[in-house]
Amino acid sequence: MPAPPASSVVGLVCPACGVGYRESATNPRCRCGSLLDLEVPPPSLTGAELRSRFEARLTGRDIADVSGVWRYRELVVPQIPDSPISYPEGNTPLIASDAIARWTGTDRLALKHEGQNPTGSFKDRGMTVGMTQAVRLGARGVTCASTGNTAASLAAYAAHAGLPALVLVPAGRVTPEKLAQSAAYGAQTVALRGDFDRCLELVEQAADRFGLYLLNSVNPYRIAGQQTIIFELLHQRRWDPPDWIVFPAGNLGNTTAFGRALVASHRAGLISRIPRLAAVQAEGAAPFAHSYAAGFTPLEPVVADTVASAIRIGNPASFDRAVRAIRATNGLVTTVTDREILEAKAVVDRAGVGCEAASAAAVAGVRRLRRESVIGDGDSVVAVLTGHLLKEPLAAATARDSRAVEIDGRLDEIEAILDR
Ligand SMILES: *Cc1c(COP(=O)(O)O)cnc(C)c1O
Ligand SMILES: [Zn+2]
Repeated sequence: MPAPPASSVVGLVCPACGVGYRESATNPRCRCGSLLDLEVPPPSLTGAELRSRFEARLTGRDIADVSGVWRYRELVVPQIPDSPISYPEGNTPLIASDAIARWTGTDRLALKHEGQNPTGSFKDRGMTVGMTQAVRLGARGVTCASTGNTAASLAAYAAHAGLPALVLVPAGRVTPEKLAQSAAYGAQTVALRGDFDRCLELVEQAADRFGLYLLNSVNPYRIAGQQTIIFELLHQRRWDPPDWIVFPAGNLGNTTAFGRALVASHRAGLISRIPRLAAVQAEGAAPFAHSYAAGFTPLEPVVADTVASAIRIGNPASFDRAVRAIRATNGLVTTVTDREILEAKAVVDRAGVGCEAASAAAVAGVRRLRRESVIGDGDSVVAVLTGHLLKEPLAAATARDSRAVEIDGRLDEIEAILDR
């Protein structure tokens, strides 16, 4: 076992062999092949002092205070930028819905709706930090592989920063809504005949060869920003941690970010105990769940197949660090079927909350874990809805009902519809 990195190391650190890299390094991986972590210095303030600082920023007017990412900057990056590339983002609501809670069989359920970010998914939280770093480094362009949401987010933030953007998507597998979004923001889109995992391999090579800054979640600055989903939800709960945080898991960037954020919050004295993470995979794209079920055996990639396109990933890049996140939070990994995902999506949509299919996996996961009595009676649960309903308005469950009935314009036609 290599010695863990000294806690005084700040910047990019390899969790496997402990080697440190300058914060300005552009490679997401260590020489040993492991992904790098961004280490921030432990805050010099007490938990109470940090809490009141974050609270004061809620009424601030500076963009770094208004942003639900940069508001928590002491815990996000080692060097605070003068002018972040920010919309701002974050500030997403914690929603209570009786109908959704009832369907899951829990009565203390809140939904953290990350679909309410500027481009409609949580990807914006990592992108503001990653794009700010791209600008700091003087990158001549940015790139990513994507199942759709990273592309849309990258395209928007690149436009904001005035940088050219190249995105690689699996041909025929990304919803037209997401493709239209990145094209509209001006990114060059390339559709590869192959799956997401192949796109990611190629884009890592292309970034290296053509000097483009890579903004997939292999990038440690992306992970750093995504931690703020946790900081913000804890802040909204007045730093009273829930028992469970349940979320969909694909490439495992969020799993990694959530684990890091919870450990950091605990270490900084912001919370007194660590909630349990429950990562939910679609049954047809569940290499992480398979490994977990066997006691965290090495990753065996699968050919991914699920209706939930945002988690249709068979060879998750952040596997190793996600294992650490589940262990550090006494967490678990579970699966749900496509049928359960679509049922959950219909419930979330009809409740007026709405989300994309991948997000509904979290809600389906809450129901499954409650039925199995893993989530106990009276446990408090936060489920993270990762993307907006308009990302996938015609997902199978609702397509039939979304057709409008055409009429000529007579009141008796409306009467007939109301009578149905
Ligand atoms: C990216 C994405 C996910 C998967 O997150 P990972 O960090 O890759 O595990 C889930 N849902 C939505 C809507 C996404 O865009
Ligand atoms: Zn290493």
